[in-house]
Amino acid sequence: MSSTAWTDVDEYVAELLIGRDENLAEALQACEDAGLPPISVSATQGQFLNLLATMQGADKILEIGTLGGYSTIWLGRALPADGTLVTLEVDPTHAAVAESNIVAAGLGARVDIRVGNALETLPQLEAEGAGPFDLVFIDADKPSNPEYVSWAVRLARSGAVIVVDNVVRGGAVLDADSDDPTVRGVRAMHELIAAEPRLTATVLQTVGSKGYDGFALAVVDAKSA
Ligand code: SAM
Repeated sequence: MSSTAWTDVDEYVAELLIGRDENLAEALQACEDAGLPPISVSATQGQFLNLLATMQGADKILEIGTLGGYSTIWLGRALPADGTLVTLEVDPTHAAVAESNIVAAGLGARVDIRVGNALETLPQLEAEGAGPFDLVFIDADKPSNPEYVSWAVRLARSGAVIVVDNVVRGGAVLDADSDDPTVRGVRAMHELIAAEPRLTATVLQTVGSKGYDGFALAVVDAKSA
């Protein structure tokens, strides 16, 4: 099956099961108008994240990698009225677009955008006593994925769900000799997850409008939670 068919099926599913959503459409348009790269999750993936957060009954969500806030809106909509989502973004331009999109989506009171390198804002969150989080979504710079997963485990409650996007990379994850820092980061992350006794995990390969990739899914302390 061709990548055109993957996109067509994504559109078919999105139209049938999700429908047009003005806030999300406007958020994507604002990202494009601001010149942000078109690397948000797809609508079907956003709905997947929303459903995971709903199934998890998440009150506290941590997101690493905001871009224009598209996935933030999907996740934030799963929160109860008193729920909170902290999202980490290094680029102030991305964060400004995200803030405007998140406020327009009615989630301004529930979402806290922290601007800075996540490897610096994560220790700040810990020092503040933020969390423990019920769900962590990792979708930032791939070379730092091992550190992000370690931080996610540290800041999560027992039973928390960790989701990491882009962990298959069109199959390049198989290349143990790759010089690509994103592939190396993703492979190191898979090895860290495999060696972390607190995590029970799998990888779900995905195809669609975003090409061939995958999500890592893990539960913290699944056997004792
Ligand atoms: N989750 C977003 C969505 O689906 O709408 C897409 C996120 S995009 C793939 C990755 C984002 O991570 C970019 O906005 C990028 O600026 C940000 N990023 C990259 N390195 C980062 C870092 N060290 N700390 C925080 N954010 C980072």
